[in-house]
Amino acid sequence: MKKNHLFKAEIGQMLDLVVNSLYSKKEIFLRELVSNASDAIDRAKYLGLMDKDLLSDAPAFRIDLVADKDAHTLAISDNGYGMDADDLEKNLGTIASSGTKAFTEAVKAKGESTIPELIGKFGVGFYAAFMVADKVTVVSKKRGEEKAFSWTSDGLGSYEVDDAERDAFGTTITLHLRDDQQEYLDEWRIRELVKSYSDFIAYPIFFKGLPEEKKDDKKDEKPEEPKPLNTMTALWKRAKKDVKPEEYTEFYCHLAHDYEDPLETIHFSGEGQVEFKSLLFIPKHAGMDIYMPNAKKGLSLYVRNVFIGNDFDLLLPDYLRFVKGVVDSADLPLNVSREMLQDEAVIKKIKSAVTSKILSALEDLKKKGGEKADEGYLAFWNVFGRVLKEGVHTDWSNADRIKKLLLYPTAKTPAGKLVSLDDYVKAMAKDQKDIYYICADKLEDARHSPQIEQALKHGCDVVFFADPVDEWLVDDFREYDGKKLVDLAKGEVSFGTEEEQKAEKETAEKAAGELKDFLGAVKEQLKEQVADVRVSTRLAESPCCLVAGANAMSASMERMLRAMNQEVPHEKRTLEVNAQHPLIAKMKGLEGDALKDAVELLYDQALIAEGSTVPDPGRFTKLLTALMMK
Ligand code: ADP
Repeated sequence: MKKNHLFKAEIGQMLDLVVNSLYSKKEIFLRELVSNASDAIDRAKYLGLMDKDLLSDAPAFRIDLVADKDAHTLAISDNGYGMDADDLEKNLGTIASSGTKAFTEAVKAKGESTIPELIGKFGVGFYAAFMVADKVTVVSKKRGEEKAFSWTSDGLGSYEVDDAERDAFGTTITLHLRDDQQEYLDEWRIRELVKSYSDFIAYPIFFKGLPEEKKDDKKDEKPEEPKPLNTMTALWKRAKKDVKPEEYTEFYCHLAHDYEDPLETIHFSGEGQVEFKSLLFIPKHAGMDIYMPNAKKGLSLYVRNVFIGNDFDLLLPDYLRFVKGVVDSADLPLNVSREMLQDEAVIKKIKSAVTSKILSALEDLKKKGGEKADEGYLAFWNVFGRVLKEGVHTDWSNADRIKKLLLYPTAKTPAGKLVSLDDYVKAMAKDQKDIYYICADKLEDARHSPQIEQALKHGCDVVFFADPVDEWLVDDFREYDGKKLVDLAKGEVSFGTEEEQKAEKETAEKAAGELKDFLGAVKEQLKEQVADVRVSTRLAESPCCLVAGANAMSASMERMLRAMNQEVPHEKRTLEVNAQHPLIAKMKGLEGDALKDAVELLYDQALIAEGSTVPDPGRFTKLLTALMMK
């Protein structure tokens, strides 16, 4: 049976990184191994609900730490689910290679100083053992199986799986401590580590030091009942006032495999129709998979203290997938399966309560304000804002609350700062009725859009939708706070008081009359490209711009769909010219080829201004060069 294996190539590199003390604190190896032991017991307990035979040994679940000072070993044992030979190979011989690859690439890209932080993200868990040990032996017997197996490695490049002897079900991980890591044989050190990292683990953790002290003089006394090192109280079941901030942080780090404290902690009880306790966290940074279609959602479900699973999509809406935490309810049957949960009314109620609570927490965070990009709501927004936006589209019942949480750059907001739509509405100009916005691929394009010129001249601010996601939201966003959202690159617009608007219209009509022949000539020349040519009411400094029909797709949306290989019927846009602009006055006097070339350049300019490319760049540069020569 003895088989020698090579770690998958990337793992070798990975182990090397881990072992070379990439974790800032080597001591966390214990937390990782104890967490794994606890997970294995959770699993045994859960599967035992469905298959009683798995627990035929009627186990009192526990985790044992045994330090042997003679052998220089620390062993971590559990009577959990165990692993067979296949599991050992699969779980301890491979890490999802994409994750590893991403990891090593990220490490290379980031440079040395940030490496420890990266590691936490990938939850290398078990491999942390090699930080303190030069050899690790795992002996395991899987519940329901006859045979036990061992896994041994020095963490350098290969591991060995072999038959082994083990009476009880479960796993023992023995660390042969490195010479400079002997402190982990001391009881006080282990106690301290369990207390600070693993106190809330739900199973008792016991310590035993070997060789046992010979207490001859106490021979006749009954040996003391060993006391667990941990208090085992589920944090979420304790009253908020009794939990210290560092306990929350430690629990969060355990849960999320994170290295940093969370941005926000939400601890609450659901009461009323469904009773449950919940402890939720908003992390400071996003997981690597946050935009993947099957991104893992981070809520663990417990039913009456039994861990049921942590991959229940149904507890959280997709747009809150960054939240980590625990939900514990006594109102669910213990033998819940994923399929059953689908139709559980209780789950739907929990989901709705959890969602509402998270949105409240975000609302509070936003209210607190804060100017710094790495603090408070802004920190949240910069990392997860885009994910939250999805909710406007997918969660109708909460869309209005989510809309209030959105932040945007605007024309009047200094670069780098953002405002909410409420802020925008509060600062609206006296006669402004609508909320103005413009869509662009990039913020800079939005800032330089000719279409926003008149709005700004009239003191109206313009919201920039410069994130591709915003384009999709526009449809769900026809109104905000009773005000229409108006795209300045579409349809006809006018600004100011009713009189001003009337006057403006008259001026435009008059100008159109004066420019009749010129507009007619431009229209004739560009009839394949544009639907109409008219005098603009939205331009101030620029000579021209392109606008779409009131209900047409915007130029940036069109480009986005094309980039996704979708068939998009090209809808002709309207070319607007600024009748006040000296260039237009000049062009009016041109004839023949000179006029034709100028019209062509004018149109190309309008295309460039909206972020599109000119149809014939070669001809464009030729025309421009000729013009410059003049
Ligand atoms: P993670 O815990 O993040 O999945 P680890 O590297 O810590 O990653 O562990 C890899 C896998 O090995 C675990 O997911 C689990 O399947 C298995 N494993 C580790 N320790 C134990 C244990 N004590 N009992 C049973 N399985 C274990």
